[in-house]
Amino acid sequence: MDSIASETSSLDWIDTHCHPDELLTGGQFDAAWQRSRAAGVRHWIAIGTQVSDMALYARAAEDHDFLSFTVGLHPLNLAGLSVEDLEKILASWDFYRTRKGFVGVGEIGLDYSRLPGALAEREALIRQQKSFFEEQLRWAVRHELPVVVHARQAFAEALDILRRSRVDGSRVVFHCFSEGPEEVQVLNAGGMRASFTGIVTFKNADKTRAALKAQGPDRLLIETDAPYLAPHPHRGRPNEPAHLPLIAQSIASILHLPLSELSHRLALNSREFFEVRG
Ligand SMILES: [Zn+2]
Repeated sequence: MDSIASETSSLDWIDTHCHPDELLTGGQFDAAWQRSRAAGVRHWIAIGTQVSDMALYARAAEDHDFLSFTVGLHPLNLAGLSVEDLEKILASWDFYRTRKGFVGVGEIGLDYSRLPGALAEREALIRQQKSFFEEQLRWAVRHELPVVVHARQAFAEALDILRRSRVDGSRVVFHCFSEGPEEVQVLNAGGMRASFTGIVTFKNADKTRAALKAQGPDRLLIETDAPYLAPHPHRGRPNEPAHLPLIAQSIASILHLPLSELSHRLALNSREFFEVRG
């Protein structure tokens, strides 16, 4: 182990956004947890994206104190779901809400990156994404829960829905932030925050690094978004929570903060935002 790795592994890190569903179903979960713990990443928040992963995470959180989880339907996972389906899903969340390790709602939002070309189809999809976002948000607001937002090529539209929902801004995080400094200032002015991934380690990500600097450390959250977005030098390969310290090192140098101070700050921010105890 080199000296940087031993420095980060003696610290305490929380991966606030990962998707360990394939680790669980593929029998890799325990090995990934061992690697994570060895790297100092001692808590994972598994973020829901569809009906099947929520059930999986709730079961896993029962057995593992290091795992918290959220429930949510990702905007790209709505194909074939009707309003009636959504009602049933929201009803099932009343059960998840009582389970050990449950911490909030997400990831929910809008994703306009893969809209179909035909106008009618396109409009129907946008309508569905918006109504599913609004309904899930309403449930989160009713239960006063933190909300993890996914907004891709739809920043202004997502912000508009959040404002109209009257959600408490301090409970909203825009995950995997990839907008610029102006957008992060708009978020922060509304009490909201941005969370950053391994994108900050990519060569061509100056805009994201500028956004990171504009927000600063006070309400910062960081995440791997594993298995996606592996940080440099693992870019292009499957990501895992054990890689979080690579992202933290990069952030510490961008913000000119000692690693130990960043770790302390992030632990406080993450535990406060998600009300994580373990
Ligand atoms: Zn995600």
